[in-house]
Amino acid sequence: MPLASFSLGCVMKFLPTITLFVSLAAGPFVRAADQTPAQIADQELPSLLAIYKDVHSHPELSTQEKRTSEMVAKELKAAGCEVTDHIGKYDQPGLTGYGIVGVMKNGDGPVVLVRTDMDALPVEEETGLPYASKVMAKNNAGEEVHVMHACGHDVHIATFIGVARAMAKLKDRWHGTILFVAQPAEEAFGGARAMLKDGLYTRWPKPNFALGFHDKADLEINHIGITSGYMQANVDSVDVTVPGLGGHGAYPHKVKDPIVLSAEIINMWQTIASRENNPLDPIVITVGSIHGGTKHNIIPNDVKMQLTVRTYKSEVRERVLAAIERIAKGCAMARGWPPDKMPEIKVRTDEFVPATYNNPELTKRLTEVWKSSLGKQNVETVDPVMGGEDFSEYSLPDHSIPAFDLHIGAVAPEKIAASKKPGGPPLPSLHSSKFAPVPEPTIRTGLIAMTSAVLDLMKK
Ligand SMILES: [Zn+2]
Ligand SMILES: [Zn+2]
Repeated sequence: MPLASFSLGCVMKFLPTITLFVSLAAGPFVRAADQTPAQIADQELPSLLAIYKDVHSHPELSTQEKRTSEMVAKELKAAGCEVTDHIGKYDQPGLTGYGIVGVMKNGDGPVVLVRTDMDALPVEEETGLPYASKVMAKNNAGEEVHVMHACGHDVHIATFIGVARAMAKLKDRWHGTILFVAQPAEEAFGGARAMLKDGLYTRWPKPNFALGFHDKADLEINHIGITSGYMQANVDSVDVTVPGLGGHGAYPHKVKDPIVLSAEIINMWQTIASRENNPLDPIVITVGSIHGGTKHNIIPNDVKMQLTVRTYKSEVRERVLAAIERIAKGCAMARGWPPDKMPEIKVRTDEFVPATYNNPELTKRLTEVWKSSLGKQNVETVDPVMGGEDFSEYSLPDHSIPAFDLHIGAVAPEKIAASKKPGGPPLPSLHSSKFAPVPEPTIRTGLIAMTSAVLDLMKK
């Protein structure tokens, strides 16, 4: 148990004579501080597994992480952290910030931030697990929905608590301050920003390094996945209104049809990637929603669209967002639209998620650490994706805080092999109602990887 081990650690620290006596009397007794992260992981696993199952069967939606955050706060306290709860100021009024910061101090030295997310998703679980969620809850719109940890944030929580326990046991081998950050509302994109807005980097010391981790639904257990540089994209949500002059569907010459204009604009937007952009800078422009009109024979007064725009570099982001507006207005002008009926483009800055950038120097350093703590054969290189993750917020917009987000393998190798056979069962992706990480090896690998990384960054 963590408390017992921690108190033993304290006794040993202050009474070296007794330690020697105990060591001799106990024969092969290994001092806590001499243990490897793997040995600590093995000892903690039964208790961490119980935490995982408990969190899995009690999932909470984004911004509603009350029970989960209370449990995390209790566990961090038990591991020796100074804990502050209810951190997070959302832009939207009426929401409670359930963020937790646990500070583990160990003299002067570097400050390292370790982050877990805590929220679950509105998904009805279909894993068939004995500890599957049956939870229903009201979302922020007041609708009753099923809730499931379909992204593995429950695995992250158990791993994160394990890292706190391990670092407490290994205090003789590091110095500095660890900020254990349990973040709400990752799925709703806003939890990290809400914690920063509530003074994460002013009420507590600004970290020298920020570390995150996420389970991966197509990477085998006992393996980790590493991406250097850009790993996930800038995510922009854009609302577009294309005004027209509505009228009868049989008299197109008497109206300005916003539907045909929207069709032209959408096709022109797709040429931003193919004709305006360096092909080595990936971009995605997806029109995920388009609404206009009510009936076959009426040309409507406007069309509304919702876009998701993905980029890596900030200069590319700015150029693409400007091109979206220029093309929409340019198409309208080319079709003789009156100046007061130009398309309106609104970039939803409140929903913006910056790109996750794994600092290449830090990546190189940690890769060597992991090859040694997990074995070379278990460290894989993983391609970047155009998904989004608000872990990026912790490195600040200019990436001035070196950060790294690690993939942890969560799938049995035989399932991966079966999925690769022609007609084989596809692997459930993250957010699928059937996604179930194999908990023991995923937590164990995450604990070893994160503990060995923090130890290296803070070693004496
Ligand atoms: Zn997710
Ligand atoms: Zn996730």
